[in-house]
Amino acid sequence: MAYIELDRSAFFNNLDIIAQHTGSVDKIALVLKDNAYGHGLEPMAAMAAEYGVRRAVVRNSGEAERIAAWFDYILVLAEIPRTPLEKVCYTVNSREDLARFPKGCRVEIKVDTGMHRNGITLENLEGVVSEAREAGLQVEGFFTHHRSADILSSEWFWQNAQFAAVKASARSIAERFGFPTPRFHSCNSAALFRKGTFDEDMARVGIAAYGCLEMERTLPQPALKPVMALYAEKIATRTLEAGERVGYGGIYKAAEPVAVSTYDVGYADGMLRTASNRYTTPGGAALLGRISMDNTTFAATEERLLVFDDANRYAAAAGTIGYEVMVGMRPYMRRVIKS
Ligand SMILES: *Cc1c(COP(=O)(O)O)cnc(C)c1O
Repeated sequence: MAYIELDRSAFFNNLDIIAQHTGSVDKIALVLKDNAYGHGLEPMAAMAAEYGVRRAVVRNSGEAERIAAWFDYILVLAEIPRTPLEKVCYTVNSREDLARFPKGCRVEIKVDTGMHRNGITLENLEGVVSEAREAGLQVEGFFTHHRSADILSSEWFWQNAQFAAVKASARSIAERFGFPTPRFHSCNSAALFRKGTFDEDMARVGIAAYGCLEMERTLPQPALKPVMALYAEKIATRTLEAGERVGYGGIYKAAEPVAVSTYDVGYADGMLRTASNRYTTPGGAALLGRISMDNTTFAATEERLLVFDDANRYAAAAGTIGYEVMVGMRPYMRRVIKS
């Protein structure tokens, strides 16, 4: 059966590099949303905790519950809970949300500094904090998200200036309303590596921890290593004669006799079909013809095939980004830790 291998030493290498930038492991909030970017929520949470990471970021309460034992603080990005969990802070993504949170809930306010996806504007900050407190919510932090920290453009500076104004305003609001100094965080992976000195309370790091951060050439290039590898097992081998074709539609035609094998992985498992006929494995085996639901043919004969150990390279063949390849790996596939 096809399976995912998780490289523990690559993960720890990445966390070392990230901790150097945040200044301390306590400031790493590891983004474990969406099954830890497809790596597997529980194994990644357990390894992170073993390393000493105490904070995590997830999408919903279900994920938070599954990893609660390993962390001191969890931020839920997009769910209004019925019954808030201990250790968990929930995100206020819009003013309309406020009335729907249960009383006593710990919240952090998402601020829109230019991405225009979720969050409250600087002008509405005071009104929202005031309404949140009237609704009995515990406002603990303010955060924002960068839309283009990974590319060289002035937007990075503009969003930073916006968030600096948010911090000043939030501090003054907290003082006037008499609640403790809030937590501030704005950095995803790319932003963390662009910041000269890191001076926030935590960084929400996802892709860098998984070793697949891609930055524009002129920006910093940390020595991260991919954590995820996909292996598949052989189903059958045959020799194609010159002129014979393989798979649905017969889009690959052998120019000369070639030994080929089918392996037990396909688009049902998350192999993006757009890489059909366009990818070569790290070991040099060409992917031949169309990817099927449960099978893919390679110019290979070994029993166990390394399909990819760098999701970004597979993603380039499929016309997408590493995030989509990794997060698409189905949860039912076995996860094996390589140490
Ligand atoms: C997914 C996400 C992150 C992590 O981004 P990376 O680019 O993977 O580091 C950080 N913050 C928010 C709000 C996110 O949704």
